[in-house]
Amino acid sequence: MPGFTSPVRDLTFVANELHKFEDYREALGFEDADPDTIAAIFEEAGRMADEVFHPLNRSGDEEGCKLEDGKVTVPAGFTEAYKAYTESGWSSLAADPEYGGQGMPEMLSKMVGELFSATNHSLAMYPGLSHGAMSSLTVWASEEMKQTYLPKLTTGEWTGTMNLTEGHAGTDLGIIRTKAEPNADGSYAVSGEKIFISAGEHEMSENIIHLVLAKLPDAPPGTKGISLFIVPKFMVNSDGSLGERNSLKCTSIEHKMGIKGSATCVMNYENATGFLCGEPHKGLRAMFTMMNAARLGVAYEGLGAAEIAYQYAVEYAKDRTQGRSLTGTKAPEKPADPIIHHPDVRRMLLTMRSFTEGARALGCWAGMLLDISERHPDEAEKERAEDLLGLLTPVAKAFFTDEGTTHASTAMQVYGGHGYIAEWGVEQLVRDARISQLYEGTNGIQALDLVGRKLALNGGRGLTTFMKEVYKGLKAEEDNDDMKAYVEPMQAALADLQASTEWFMNNAMENADNVGSASVAYCRLFAIVATGYMWVRMVRVAKDALAAGTDEKDFYGSKLIVGKFYMEHYATERTMLRARVEAGCGTMMSMAVDAF
Ligand SMILES: Cc1cc2nc3c(=O)[nH]c(=O)nc-3n(C[C@H](O)[C@H](O)[C@H](O)COP(=O)(O)OP(=O)(O)OC[C@H]3O[C@@H](n4cnc5c(N)ncnc54)[C@H](O)[C@@H]3O)c2cc1C
Repeated sequence: MPGFTSPVRDLTFVANELHKFEDYREALGFEDADPDTIAAIFEEAGRMADEVFHPLNRSGDEEGCKLEDGKVTVPAGFTEAYKAYTESGWSSLAADPEYGGQGMPEMLSKMVGELFSATNHSLAMYPGLSHGAMSSLTVWASEEMKQTYLPKLTTGEWTGTMNLTEGHAGTDLGIIRTKAEPNADGSYAVSGEKIFISAGEHEMSENIIHLVLAKLPDAPPGTKGISLFIVPKFMVNSDGSLGERNSLKCTSIEHKMGIKGSATCVMNYENATGFLCGEPHKGLRAMFTMMNAARLGVAYEGLGAAEIAYQYAVEYAKDRTQGRSLTGTKAPEKPADPIIHHPDVRRMLLTMRSFTEGARALGCWAGMLLDISERHPDEAEKERAEDLLGLLTPVAKAFFTDEGTTHASTAMQVYGGHGYIAEWGVEQLVRDARISQLYEGTNGIQALDLVGRKLALNGGRGLTTFMKEVYKGLKAEEDNDDMKAYVEPMQAALADLQASTEWFMNNAMENADNVGSASVAYCRLFAIVATGYMWVRMVRVAKDALAAGTDEKDFYGSKLIVGKFYMEHYATERTMLRARVEAGCGTMMSMAVDAF
């Protein structure tokens, strides 16, 4: 299996040099998150990912999870690795100090997530799900509940799950059948079957705190009748010790395409004791808290997949020799040249790299907006960050995970037939990456969230903020001749995004299917613009560093090349995407169902 080295330098670049987290540190109250500490955190996370997570990736895939007598066994080494992860403080990094957390920025927690997902997607999911559960408890649970559950989730001694999906209810959670009947003591009896529950059962932690969506007896129909319940695997006594086992169990685990080390469970609840979290029938709001945090986390899974795929591909392309370079022999001592000298192989490698570096910058921006939206003392700054984050969350989830799968496959193409053979590890990347496009809301649903909900929110305030931010950023550079190759393609892409937005304004009311027909293309166009804007800013930082005589000429110099490649390859998708938006729903909806 090829090696992996966490991209620590690039993480530090985007957090410290591009987005200058330092400028926000004081206002956000993150006294400890200075640039050196941020760099050290990336360094340490990289070590954990490279030395603990990566070596278990292949064996975890081969071994998978097993269910016997209701007990789920995870692959060998996972429990120890999880323990090392929690003991090193990764589960508590951004958690609230009031409940035992380290109180570091969410941005950092999300960014190191790239490294853990890249090196072992399955293993990273166990703490990932806990994180989603913790976000929801933090916002919606009572103080007593927080005191009961958050400290142990923070240390990782307990893990958390999200129980939304049922056999007949995936995207449409309004039709769930799981019920919650009030008990005399104020708790609830939760009954129903949930499917596809990640980390639903395992023995890596002492207890599992299930967050379950269910309906109360007087629930109104649809999504307005969903409530959220805390249903622990083991009841928690008033002194915090573990009590009897709750009446819930894992009845089977799924046999699936990838992430085989992650237990995907069918969970059966039979009058299990649950506790209402938040208000009755307001579970949808709580669910969105869980989902928004989780969606950004899933976006990072896509980025991680693309990063490891890129590294595997580069290693192979430098080593594999086939044919001679079109412009003359490059390795005369060998019978053929390394394939990295062939332009088509370079096209593949640079497509991957222009995505990963651009996405890393965009993801960092989203992570920082999350912190600003939660902690900035200035309400206007907070609101602005919330607006931008609302747009960028579905965009990043869809774009990063689409490209994660695409580039796992691009790496396979670089390997030729060898990529299809298990021993190289690339086919596992393809299988593992694919799920991220499906869960936490399919990518089609992300696009609908963007177009159907987020664009019009608060009279389009968020969209206006985004457009202005990009417009001003590009305008500031437009008179610099040496930036034209970056700025002009992005100004054209921004104009296409503007025109596509106007198309929705003119056509959505006339026929609602126009929204659904054009949303995926629009979401990608949005991502291309947002990522391209990151590239323009990165190139500026790189040029300034080079002009100042940096020692890292290769690092900054390659930003100029990779950024230009982005403009030539990704940014040029703009015309195609706009044409797809403007095609509307006419043709696709004109075909009769029976004709399919
Ligand atoms: C490995 C794995 C792990 C998972 N982990 C969890 C977990 O931990 N907790 C949990 O609760 N769930 C989990 N899920 C479930 C996952 O979130 C759902 O599979 C996902 O939300 C999609 O639901 P569905 O599979 O029922 O597809 P469906 O909702 O049936 O969708 C099928 C297709 O129709 C499209 N579609 C549906 N409705 C619309 C619409 N209104 N407009 C346009 N298109 C639409 C979808 O985009 C999709 O392409 C997991 C799933 C898997 C496979």
